[in-house]
Amino acid sequence: MRPETIFDVIVVGGGPAGATAATDLARLGRLVLLLDREGRIKPCGGAIPPRAIDRFAIPPALLVARIDCARIVSPKGRAVDIGIEGGFVGMVDRDVFDAWLRERAAAAGAVRAAGTFERLEHEPGGLVRVLWRAKGAPASAPLAGARARFVIGADGANSAVARQAIPQAADRRFVFAYHEVCERPPDGLADYGDGRCDVVYDGRLSPDFYSWLFPHGPTFSIGTGSAAKGFPLRESVTTYRRRMGLDSVRTIRREGAPIPLEPLRRWDNGRDVLLAGDAAGVVAPASGEGIFYAMESGRLAAEAVDETLATGDARALARARRRFLRAHGAVFWILGIMQRYWYGSDERRERFVAICRDKDVQELTFDAYMNKELVKARPLAHVRIFFKNLAHLSGLVPA
Ligand SMILES: Cc1cc2nc3c(=O)[nH]c(=O)nc-3n(C[C@H](O)[C@H](O)[C@H](O)COP(=O)(O)OP(=O)(O)OC[C@H]3O[C@@H](n4cnc5c(N)ncnc54)[C@H](O)[C@@H]3O)c2cc1C
Repeated sequence: MRPETIFDVIVVGGGPAGATAATDLARLGRLVLLLDREGRIKPCGGAIPPRAIDRFAIPPALLVARIDCARIVSPKGRAVDIGIEGGFVGMVDRDVFDAWLRERAAAAGAVRAAGTFERLEHEPGGLVRVLWRAKGAPASAPLAGARARFVIGADGANSAVARQAIPQAADRRFVFAYHEVCERPPDGLADYGDGRCDVVYDGRLSPDFYSWLFPHGPTFSIGTGSAAKGFPLRESVTTYRRRMGLDSVRTIRREGAPIPLEPLRRWDNGRDVLLAGDAAGVVAPASGEGIFYAMESGRLAAEAVDETLATGDARALARARRRFLRAHGAVFWILGIMQRYWYGSDERRERFVAICRDKDVQELTFDAYMNKELVKARPLAHVRIFFKNLAHLSGLVPA
């Protein structure tokens, strides 16, 4: 009988967070098992900024569309087209994208397993046993399992690993997002651009978030989100499709999923489990952007686990969250304020869209989205924006 492999790390979940963590750890020479349940396409608009493409070496072939204009629409239907000068937002189809990320992890040396995570068992001697139901196995079959020194829980917003290992994960808040994937309309049928994404702020379509239309080459994603319990997301998308003249095009899929609203206060159990991605709650407030942050947190989780393996000091696991917040905490904070204030009423949304007409605001917001940093290089623009914001907030400027 061959001796059982003791993995350095078992990564549960092979989406952007888990696949990135598994790739990085395998490249560092660690023994990694990547477990994913496989077979379900993650509901997602699939928009990624250039920073994600560069930093995580995403091949251009995975981009099904390049967006160079964002149309922001107010409750009164006023539209502001923001050109993305010298750059673009990339669109990925999550079935292909996630499969490619998992393949990359395997090519780096991670062992892959297909199955649904069931539970963790901490064993004497410091090992943790992960048990899962193998894909396609009958319910009566015994669970499959493997042992490791550490577990990274990257199993999404409803993370079962988080629920088991991090008690604080039980009471978190979500936006629920729903979208329909449709066939691209024939030319001339609707006001539709292959290189333009639409973002609509309108209380009738969402009382606290926004609705979107993202072109994906031969298909598009049209959706909305809300944290308000019972808000009729499906009806909202039907209304939006009708408004856009897109009600007659073929619908390929209808699907939804929760988006976490804020990072958890703890990502690790101080011993042998660390969370990443949606499982850790790292989605940008206001925009719901999570792919880039999932990959970032996956990378930081890999780094922290690697350091813990090297030193034996489990306190190093907490570095992942600290480093993440140091790099992105300010942006999350500002976006959180923006969501709470600007998405609060249609009058404010109208003003918000009016602010988006401002060139300084356009340049700085887009730069922040594209490059994932608050721009420090243009202090005068910040000052101008501050006074313009003040004028809008106080109602001195008409919406
Ligand atoms: C409708 C919608 C639209 C969105 N649009 C965008 C967008 O345009 N741009 C953007 O950046 N973000 C968007 N997001 C957010 C983004 O999809 C997530 O933040 C991102 O996918 C998080 O990545 P992750 O790897 O942490 O989790 P996930 O992508 O959810 O991956 C989790 C993985 O874990 C696996 N898994 C789950 N449970 C188990 C289990 N029990 N056992 C084994 N495996 C398991 C799943 O199969 C999956 O592969 C959107 C979200 C929604 C819901």
